[in-house]
Amino acid sequence: MEKTNQQAPTYPPQYQQTPGQPQPPQAQYVVQQSTPITSAPGPQAPMYVAPAVFGEFPQPITCINCKQQGVSMTEKVMGAAGWVAVFGTCLVCCCLAWVPCVIDTCKDTNHRCSNCGMLVGTKKMI
Ligand SMILES: [Zn+2]
Repeated sequence: MEKTNQQAPTYPPQYQQTPGQPQPPQAQYVVQQSTPITSAPGPQAPMYVAPAVFGEFPQPITCINCKQQGVSMTEKVMGAAGWVAVFGTCLVCCCLAWVPCVIDTCKDTNHRCSNCGMLVGTKKMI
């Protein structure tokens, strides 16, 4: 008859340690953090939300200077596109080089606050 000894403790092999034998070196993983990871908060909410895209026509804005909400004033100014058009026209006929200077579609559009005149945005043709 087999002897069943249920009370004898049975140790799993991984718990058996033989004295005298050097313990295998434990793997030491040194996690080097080059940059301390800090909880990077998202970009702070701006005080105002300016329109991302300015068009050629007056549009509702919130002034960054006087914080007044209103419709922007627009003005046409010669920008890069205008001078490129002048140069291109000059190549065709120098007599017509002045034409892009009077065509608003060749010019950039500056949006200014109607209250204080602060430049709040520019619509560039190129
Ligand atoms: Zn203003």
